[in-house]
Amino acid sequence: MNGSDSPEPFIHPDRVRRLNDRPWQPGRYVLYWMQQAQRAHDNPALSFACGQGRRLGLPVVVVFALLRRYPEATLRHFRFMLEGLAETAQTLSTVGIPFVVRWGEPQAVVQDLASDAAGIVCDRAYLPPLAAWRTALAESAPCAVWQVETELVVPADVASARLEVAARTLRPRLLRHLPEHLEAAAQAPVQSGEPPALAGESLADLDGLCRGIDADRTPGPVTRFLAGGRAGAERALARFMGTALDGYAARRRHPEAAAVSHLSPYLQYGQISAQRIAAMITARPGTADADRDAFLDELIVRRELAHNFTLRHPAWDRHEGVPAWARETLARHAADPRPHVYGLAQLEAAATHDAYWNAAMTEARLTGYMHNHLRMYWGKKILEWSPDAETAHAHCLALNNRYFLDGLSPNSYANVGWIFGLHDRPWPERPVFGTVRYMNAAGLERKCDIGAYVAGVGRLAADDMKAS
Ligand SMILES: Cc1cc2nc3c(=O)[nH]c(=O)nc-3n(C[C@H](O)[C@H](O)[C@H](O)COP(=O)(O)OP(=O)(O)OC[C@H]3O[C@@H](n4cnc5c(N)ncnc54)[C@H](O)[C@@H]3O)c2cc1C
Repeated sequence: MNGSDSPEPFIHPDRVRRLNDRPWQPGRYVLYWMQQAQRAHDNPALSFACGQGRRLGLPVVVVFALLRRYPEATLRHFRFMLEGLAETAQTLSTVGIPFVVRWGEPQAVVQDLASDAAGIVCDRAYLPPLAAWRTALAESAPCAVWQVETELVVPADVASARLEVAARTLRPRLLRHLPEHLEAAAQAPVQSGEPPALAGESLADLDGLCRGIDADRTPGPVTRFLAGGRAGAERALARFMGTALDGYAARRRHPEAAAVSHLSPYLQYGQISAQRIAAMITARPGTADADRDAFLDELIVRRELAHNFTLRHPAWDRHEGVPAWARETLARHAADPRPHVYGLAQLEAAATHDAYWNAAMTEARLTGYMHNHLRMYWGKKILEWSPDAETAHAHCLALNNRYFLDGLSPNSYANVGWIFGLHDRPWPERPVFGTVRYMNAAGLERKCDIGAYVAGVGRLAADDMKAS
């Protein structure tokens, strides 16, 4: 980066990377291609674009390429995303920044606006297909393309240049860099000039847009708890800080208490910034160290470990991404007798012999969410009840990505991998699992009030029946 290109002073230089060596060109606007960070506030990529607009005396235009279909995504995911985008459009319009939403592949949609752009700014994504969009754009764009880290608290390349084997190896690296990345100032977008009028889809009619989506329509949108967008994310954060952060270290293992943040879907669509959440939690007065540290460990260490995995492992979405020791031990136990074997349809219908598991699957079907402690049990049982580990891995990932609103994220691939030994260590050997960690119903009964959880899901299901 050279001096005249330097970003806003509050954007850490480590968050900014130039993706090609083309210069800024004469243009009508600075173009921000929004993809991962679908928010107007606390978005360093948008702030960087606004800073460049100010420097060049040009307005900023934000573009979003709306796909009609995306692998595995259902109407549930699209609806949540569109709700957030509608709110982002409104916020941007209040500061005079056009939000141009067009149907199509990013490459084509962005390319169409690139010829009038002085330069292009994009955010960063950690799934290889999404990263590939950025590489292709940088190659084909006629102007400078900059990428700004918007997703992580500590940028991935700063934290570690290698594939990390466990949280314990990444944690000290993250903690070393955390102080300089925690002091993120709140960022609001500022427009610098008169933008051109550009055609795009209106986000006023979400039902109409949903009709244009060519995705599986079941599972449908969830309206019960989570509406997409910044307001919902801020409400979830405020509720968590007000009612559940105190005691989080102990109560996060109690699914019946729901004493967790429910922020994961908002994080998945970039509707809230992880940096902002971390800064708010850190600044909250009176939080016990144990509660704050436990939460930040999930938000930063576990989450960034997942991003390290999808960034650095070529088999990020396959069973081959699981470490060799785990695949070997599972293969050695492939022929072990399995008292219960279920196919995808039975699992999906929550029709197993296990009431706890069925309740967890039902929660996911109805709400798009499942508590972390139950996700672990849920995944371990899929491994136990499948004919082999590869099939179990595929089924677990398929259900995860189909039903969870936070599915299809780096967390999805890394945590499903964890079921099969990723980021974990060998445990005492037993049937089917070999030395991969095992979980059983007695553990749930010992550690939480699983009966209260099952009853709660039962009430949800009954309400759902009444409403339909
Ligand atoms: C089998 C399995 C599948 C999972 N699939 C997903 C998934 O598809 N998408 C997803 O976002 N998370 C997934 N997780 C991780 C975790 O369960 C969820 O992030 C968490 O339950 C989200 O709820 P919350 O926001 O209320 O969490 P909180 O406890 O409030 O945690 C705050 C944030 O920390 C992060 N976090 C928490 N636990 C983890 C973890 N184990 N790994 C990475 N980040 C974490 C999340 O971003 C979360 O929003 C999975 C876990 C398992 C065991």
